[in-house]
Amino acid sequence: MNTQRKPDWLKVKLSKGQSLSYTKNIIAQFSLNTVCDEANCPNKIECFGKKTATFMILGSNCTRNCRFCNVTCGRPETVDAGEPENVAKAVATLGLKYVVVTSVTRDDLDDGGSEHFAQVIGKIKEVSPQTSVEVLIPDFKGNVEALKTVGDAAPAVISHNVETVPRLYNEVCPQSDYRTSLEVIKNIKLLYPSIMSKTGIMVGLGETKEDMIQVFRDLREVGCEILTIGQYLAPSKEHHAVIEYIHPDVFEEYKNIAYEMGFTFVKSGPLVRSSYHADEALKS
Ligand code: SF4
Ligand code: SF4
Repeated sequence: MNTQRKPDWLKVKLSKGQSLSYTKNIIAQFSLNTVCDEANCPNKIECFGKKTATFMILGSNCTRNCRFCNVTCGRPETVDAGEPENVAKAVATLGLKYVVVTSVTRDDLDDGGSEHFAQVIGKIKEVSPQTSVEVLIPDFKGNVEALKTVGDAAPAVISHNVETVPRLYNEVCPQSDYRTSLEVIKNIKLLYPSIMSKTGIMVGLGETKEDMIQVFRDLREVGCEILTIGQYLAPSKEHHAVIEYIHPDVFEEYKNIAYEMGFTFVKSGPLVRSSYHADEALKS
C-alpha cells in the first residue's frame, strides 16, 4: 500500500446543497443501487449535487472479484423484474437528459444480464424519449449475441472498461481478459457504427507510460472513440495498493497523446471516472 499522503489535487471540495439529499432520496425511493455508492466514488457530492448518478442494475453482488473494486463479490441476486421501470422513473423524476447505467458482472446468467440491460434502456426511452442513455457493460464473456441484445436497444453510447494495461491484468482483474475486452469494443463499432464506443482506464496501478500508449493504440485499432483516464484509489487495505499518485501534468499529457491518436473525446484527470461528466462527449 502506498503510504504517501494523498496529494492536494485529490482532495475533494465539500459543498452543501439540497440536491445531494434529494438525489439520495430518489435512489432510495425506487430501491436502486448506484455505482457512486458501491464504489464510494470521490465525485458523489458533485454528481448527486447536480442530480445525476450512475445506476447499477442486476443487483449489488458481483460474480467476479477484481482487486481494485469495492463492489461485493457474492451470491448473485435474483434479477428484479421491476428494476427497468424503477430506473426509468428515477431518471424521469431527476429530470436527467443523460444517464449512465452499468451493472455488476453476472457470469451466472446465460445472457450475462443483457436482456435486462435492453429492458432498462427501452423503459428509459419510453418514459423519457429525450434522454440519451449510456451503458457501461461487462464483457459478457465475449458473447456477441449478448452484446447485440444491448446494441439493438439503441443506447447512444456503449462503454466497456479495459480498466488497466494488459501486463497488470493477472494481479488487478484476474478473471477478466484484455483481448476479450478489446473484442467487445471492436464489435460495438462493427455492429453499430452509429453508437459511440467508449472505455475507461485507471492509472497508478504500476503501469508505465509506454504501457499506456500501447493500450491507446490497441483501442484506436478497434475503433474506440471516447476515453476516460483517472487515478486509482484503493477502497481498503485489502484491495490492490496504489502504486503511484499520477501528477495532473501526466494526465494532461495522456489526454494530448490520445487526441493526437484520434480519439474523439478524452477526459483525463485524477478524479475522472468512467461516468464523470459523461454527457460532455455527446455535446462535443
Ligand atoms: S463520477 Fe460517476 S460514479 Fe462517480 S459520483 Fe459521478 S456519476 Fe457516480
Ligand atoms: S467485474 Fe466489475 S463490478 Fe465486478 S468486481 Fe470487477 S470491476 Fe467490480
